[in-house]
Amino acid sequence: MTNKTPVTFARGDGIGPEIMDGTLRILEKAGAALALEEIKIGKDVYESGVSSGIPEEAWASLRRTKVFLKAPITTPQGGGYKSLNVTIRKSLGLFANVRPCVSYAPYVETKHPNMDLVIIRENEEDLYGGIEYRQSQDVMAALKIISRPGTERIVRYAFEYARANGRRKVTCMTKDNIMKLSDGLFHKVFDEIGADYPDIEQNHMIIDIGAAKVASAPHMFDVIVLPNLYGDIVSDIAAEVTGSVGLGGSSNIGADFAMFEAVHGSAPDIAGKGVANPSGLLLGAVMMLVHIGQGDVATRIHNAWLRTIEDGIHTGEIYRKDTSVRQVGTNVFTDEVIARLGETPLKLKPANYDGVQAGGMKLPPLSPRKEESKERVGVDVNLNWDGTAEDLAAKILPCVTDDLALALISNRGVKVWPDGQPETFCADNWRLRFLSKKGNVRTSQVIALMDRLNKADMNFTKAVMLHNFDGKPGFTAAQGE
Ligand code: NAD
Repeated sequence: MTNKTPVTFARGDGIGPEIMDGTLRILEKAGAALALEEIKIGKDVYESGVSSGIPEEAWASLRRTKVFLKAPITTPQGGGYKSLNVTIRKSLGLFANVRPCVSYAPYVETKHPNMDLVIIRENEEDLYGGIEYRQSQDVMAALKIISRPGTERIVRYAFEYARANGRRKVTCMTKDNIMKLSDGLFHKVFDEIGADYPDIEQNHMIIDIGAAKVASAPHMFDVIVLPNLYGDIVSDIAAEVTGSVGLGGSSNIGADFAMFEAVHGSAPDIAGKGVANPSGLLLGAVMMLVHIGQGDVATRIHNAWLRTIEDGIHTGEIYRKDTSVRQVGTNVFTDEVIARLGETPLKLKPANYDGVQAGGMKLPPLSPRKEESKERVGVDVNLNWDGTAEDLAAKILPCVTDDLALALISNRGVKVWPDGQPETFCADNWRLRFLSKKGNVRTSQVIALMDRLNKADMNFTKAVMLHNFDGKPGFTAAQGE
């Protein structure tokens, strides 16, 4: 008898309990060896006053089992509730979100019958740091963070995933033509790490055309790796074009923990009616079984499920007169999958998880850090100002010494002084760039400059030190500079 693997699960909100019951029933009948621990998270917990939506005892179970099967949660609108999903991903270090997007034509209606791709989304960094500032009356700013180790980990994961799952190509998508440093780093690390995988075809696309191609020609792709925000958007586009959000499962993987779920939400519009499709959560559970080393059970369930879909046994949201045989609710769909355990699909590609490594991907250690010289060469100071760029420059220039000269003023990233374009619209937050001709700027020089600006009644909101790394600027030029 196989040892049972401890797994934490949560029934969630809306359709969550219905689809979780169906999923657990199939897991049991298929012979999954699980020691299940239930935790309560979500709407009721939020409303009982726990603002994270996760009580202490739930964390204790997650720390114990390290594996989490989660039904969808309703995030109450307003009231300052934090997204429970983001909290769990960040708290448990679940850096990789993996979302297979497959079409099941001709059994499930889709415009793209040949779609079979996997989105690997970085889950912790980028604009999801939630670091935002109101910089003035009129201007809000959000900080996008891309780190080398964070990027290396997700890119390495994507290549290792491709190898382990017999995938041939990895595509990276960024907007590095605009965000040259942050997205530029993601692209650069992709190229560096990619060199270790000569057996895998690899390419980079700018995100806008990449996302459009996912929608119009998804057969071009195999594995796609993206920073957090683009990954969020592209994975929903991809799930949608397979035919139904009800069919997608996903995993969130970290070094020590892993969480498995459906891609869809709690569907309050159909909750309690017994019509929800349990497939998304079930396919999440299949990924979980592979992760915990029960690939044989995963294969059994996945194939029974494919056969059920192929036999035209469909829940309401994918039921079509022409392609379906019978419309069923959650419970009957579950029974039909159970009845097909041991069978394989006749036309759809059968699943086979033999030999897929358990415990998630064992990633090699991060590359050694390349030490670079770092030299402070100036400072960007943001301040509020209602007036013209010329008037602002006239106020600032008397505060400036040769140590740190005023190199430019920009507004919303566009250079407006010296020699700005008169047509440029200016908001009430301005950036002043001070650069040293001599290099090696001391903190005391910056403080002295700030002191002089303060005495001139300048209303500054933010200062960022500017550095060169190995002689190359660690900051971008302003548009028009
Ligand atoms: P949703 O995914 O819940 O529903 C979108 C549409 O798809 C609805 O018409 C719904 O009926 C249908 N649908 C979704 N899953 C289905 C299934 N299994 N079977 C049949 N039809 C299905 O998205 P939403 O309505 O935007 O969000 C509802 C709630 O879910 C919100 O509170 C949101 O915050 C939450 N949510 C949670 C998660 C999560 O826990 N991972 C993810 C997304 C949204």
